[in-house]
Amino acid sequence: MASKKKSAPKKTAPTVATRTEPEKAAPSAPPPPPPKSKFTKDELKQFKTNLLQLRDQLSRQVGGMERDALTGKDAEVSVDHMADHGSDTFDQDFTLGLIENEEQTIREIDLAIERIQDGTYGVCEACVEEPLKLCKTCPYIQKARLEAIPYARYCVEYARVAERNREIEEARDDEE
Ligand SMILES: [Zn+2]
Repeated sequence: MASKKKSAPKKTAPTVATRTEPEKAAPSAPPPPPPKSKFTKDELKQFKTNLLQLRDQLSRQVGGMERDALTGKDAEVSVDHMADHGSDTFDQDFTLGLIENEEQTIREIDLAIERIQDGTYGVCEACVEEPLKLCKTCPYIQKARLEAIPYARYCVEYARVAERNREIEEARDDEE
């Protein structure tokens, strides 16, 4: 008697199951596709050419500076010139700082070339999800700006705001 099997409760559930179904079938809507580049193929080709030229120019500069800084153009300077040594070190630090900047720019150029390839070149990264409407061309970066700085990620208005915020933050840090 005690070993009597439990009756299967399976049949009692169907109403619940059918009720939850519509909710399950409605997954959260996928986000709208990001805006695509509005430039023509020819324009993109021109931007790519500009980017590659700039990249080439920068990497040659970096190469030259690295040689100068590391081997030292004035390496033949003898111990007699020890007094100048301090300023040599300064020059070297300064040059290495420039190299860092230029390498950063080269990385930005590579990213811009990737954006040309995946069709998002010229879309402002700050305005891509929710246009901030800072400028008339939002969410696109002004063409003139890209002609001047082909690796720009942001529209000029956003870049200005970001720069101002950075300055305010730095000023605050200085006060502390
Ligand atoms: Zn923007």
